[in-house]
Amino acid sequence: MKLRVGIYERLSDEDRDKKDDVSESIKNQRHLLIEEINKRPDFVLVDEYCDEDLSGAGTYRPEFERLIKDCENGKIDVVLCKSQSRFSRDMEIIEKYLHNKFIEWNVRFISLADNADTANNGNKKSRQINGLVNEWYLEDVSNNIRSAFKAKMKQGEFISPFASFGYEISEYDNNKLVVDELASEIVKDIFKLYLTGLGFTAIAKYLNNKKIPSPSLYKYQKGIKLNIVSNKPREDIKWSSNAIKSILTNELYLGHLVQGKRTTVSYKNHKIINKDKSKWIKIKNTHEAIIDEDTFNKVQISIKERTKPTKITGSVHVFSGKVFCLECKSYLRKKNSSKHEYLVCSKNRDGYSDCINKSSIRYDILEAIILDAINKKIKTFYDEDILKQEENKNNISISNNQIKLLEKQKLELINKITKNKNYLKNLYQDKVDKIISNDQFKILISEYNQNENLYNSQIKVIDKKISYYKKNNHKSSYKYREFKVLNKIIIDEFIDKIYVGKIGDKARNIYIKWNF
Ligand SMILES: [Zn+2]
Repeated sequence: MKLRVGIYERLSDEDRDKKDDVSESIKNQRHLLIEEINKRPDFVLVDEYCDEDLSGAGTYRPEFERLIKDCENGKIDVVLCKSQSRFSRDMEIIEKYLHNKFIEWNVRFISLADNADTANNGNKKSRQINGLVNEWYLEDVSNNIRSAFKAKMKQGEFISPFASFGYEISEYDNNKLVVDELASEIVKDIFKLYLTGLGFTAIAKYLNNKKIPSPSLYKYQKGIKLNIVSNKPREDIKWSSNAIKSILTNELYLGHLVQGKRTTVSYKNHKIINKDKSKWIKIKNTHEAIIDEDTFNKVQISIKERTKPTKITGSVHVFSGKVFCLECKSYLRKKNSSKHEYLVCSKNRDGYSDCINKSSIRYDILEAIILDAINKKIKTFYDEDILKQEENKNNISISNNQIKLLEKQKLELINKITKNKNYLKNLYQDKVDKIISNDQFKILISEYNQNENLYNSQIKVIDKKISYYKKNNHKSSYKYREFKVLNKIIIDEFIDKIYVGKIGDKARNIYIKWNF
């Protein structure tokens, strides 16, 4: 009876070094193995297994798995390989199969290049030594790759094959990041939205409602390979609050590269672990920034503020350092009851009566008053007309129609100028021909000049309007016009001090000292 042979081939890093065409290597391995089978009349080829795992550390080798299964199920009598290292570079796997399982399953292992044959008991030692050498080789390669990557990171080179949302890898230098114009606008919007008071989840919802593609969907639409494998249809990959958070905290957008945040346990264990922050490799100004430092810092402060628990006594409230007593100018301190939080003049403790401003003010009521005041203040900055136009801005088609109309008007004016110029020519001719007098010519020429100035200034106005519409076409409609929630940053930006007076005959006197 003939022995049923399964041949196993694997692409290796060495092959890649030698030739550009890796499939050549598989062909060669295959050729060598089939030739061997033909040489031995007792062998018959039953199946072929071929993996593309370059490392040999067993990261992902579906064909290897299939081979092992077939061995276990008694479908194969002989496993034939070019070398033991093609089968595996891992000592443990060599031990497990060649010296244990294969014996148990009655499977013989033969590798040609290093003369290994499990039928030959005497060469177990050399097989083990081979395994050991292979393993050292693997560890070496792994360390070399690691140190090469580290050196690149330290030089500020971008080593990941995947650029973060907002950037793309330069087509001229795959270690450089360049701004992806479209995506970078979305990144900018996310930062702006956060500063208007929206949280991670609200921003994600907002973008999803606007049908703005999520980073993975965007990459997919651009035909870029993805770093995550997902079973979901691409269209179902939506913005998540985590995605928003990681964008808002990523220093990459400041133009700095922060790499080496994660690593694998070892060349054998591919589990990803997070590195300590002190070990991260950060190089400043390696690429164009998308977000300015000021905006980025404001967002970081705001994230800290907002994630702080608010209900705990003694925690910083959004008004801290800002609210004072109108009567005695002392600061207002926080006072909590079971239901609400209050602010009260700090000179007005139980048992003391230094200040006439005795009643406390409910925190949420003060918050509503201040929010309203800020929004009113913002409104006064906007010309009513612009406000109305902004309402329309939501509808891009309106803008587009306006642009078309304006461009038509502009064209009419340009025609008028051309006509005017012809008129000027005729004027000269008339003057030369002595049809008109010098005085008449002077009057007419000043009329001509006036007309041209008028047309030109009208064109200027139209150009301004056109650029306004064009700009706002690209801009989102969520430019901050009204705040929904207060935070420390908004307060700091707008308000110097808030004074709360005592309760009088009418409403409580609250005076805001603005920052401008
Ligand atoms: Zn007071």
